[in-house]
Amino acid sequence: MARITLDGIAHAYGRPRTEQDYALKKLDHVWEQGMAYALLGPSGCGKTTLLNIISGLVTPSEGRLLFDERDVTRLPTEQRNIAQVFQFPVIYDTMTVAENLAFPLRNRRVPKPQIEARVAEIAAMLDLTADLDRRARNLTADAKQKISLGRGLVRSDVSAVLFDEPLTVIDPALKWELRSKLKAVHRALDLLMIYVTHDQVEALTFADRVVVMNDGRAVQIGSPADLFERPEHTFVGYFIGSPGMNFMPAEVHGTTALVEGHRLPLGQAYPPLPAGRIQVGIRPDFAMLSRDGGVPVQVRRIDDLGRRRLAHVTLGSRPLIATVPPDMTLDGSEAAVTLSPAHMHVYVDDVRVEGRAP
Ligand code: ATP
Repeated sequence: MARITLDGIAHAYGRPRTEQDYALKKLDHVWEQGMAYALLGPSGCGKTTLLNIISGLVTPSEGRLLFDERDVTRLPTEQRNIAQVFQFPVIYDTMTVAENLAFPLRNRRVPKPQIEARVAEIAAMLDLTADLDRRARNLTADAKQKISLGRGLVRSDVSAVLFDEPLTVIDPALKWELRSKLKAVHRALDLLMIYVTHDQVEALTFADRVVVMNDGRAVQIGSPADLFERPEHTFVGYFIGSPGMNFMPAEVHGTTALVEGHRLPLGQAYPPLPAGRIQVGIRPDFAMLSRDGGVPVQVRRIDDLGRRRLAHVTLGSRPLIATVPPDMTLDGSEAAVTLSPAHMHVYVDDVRVEGRAP
């Protein structure tokens, strides 16, 4: 078990001439023992590069990687004491489920009674107990991937368990169950886990801390609540939440934002802002459609999602998505929105600016 430190880690696959040539831009971060992290971002944003640097498949072009105080930057994977779970099952078809789960422990000459106890514990967590004596060959793809997960989790002495999109082959109906199960397993086992995914639901269900990546950069590292309530970058606002955050160009003066000629109260007081592109952001959850009171808008469309209704409106010339209160009926396209000042954020060149208590 270890804490893992990224000390100025960056990586370019070729010879870098500009910052744009880095698949992973400079990153300082400490992964704490016992925590569950997700690396989340769209395809090509650098998730796998970062995971491979931690596992030893890629040597970073810059910076140092420490496992506790030990510099492992140039050590091969075998000397890093990590477990890995990949997208597709890595198991031995001719062995039984129990033998597969025991394999990483037997390899390290763990005493037999300890192996049996640990295999039973992990099998119970993953609902594999009934299959322990079956040959892996005859099992479904889902069950095989559960064995892979079990093999990744069976050692209690690893520095970290790394998961690379491990639920890709899992039947969609089972995904939800397995996702929650992995979270429970993490709580029970006290291991540092790092989980790569491009699926926000997967990341937010599993992780204590999510590293949101875009274009080779970690744009925010925070709890699921942080990412939802205080997106530090407009990308996080767009990417987290469904639909994402609303952004509108604005002028900001103290506790007021001027948007399309309307004065909107803010929850904080802002000093004069640096030059740049100023926007305010608010999640659809905190923009409420109303019949009167608030800023006048034109309703373009209502999406009824069963548990909630969302109104696509225009505020002046700007599109905005707002929540329709459950008891509200609409006739015509004239309406208003109230925007919760406490949930309005201010961004300069896509980066959130913190104000002061008003
Ligand atoms: P995905 O979800 O599609 O796997 P990712 O977020 O894991 O994407 P990476 O695979 O880390 O992203 O890729 C980051 C960037 O580095 C991409 O532009 C990719 O084309 C590039 N890249 C990845 N591997 C290599 C390689 N071996 N050689 C050259 N470029 C690479």
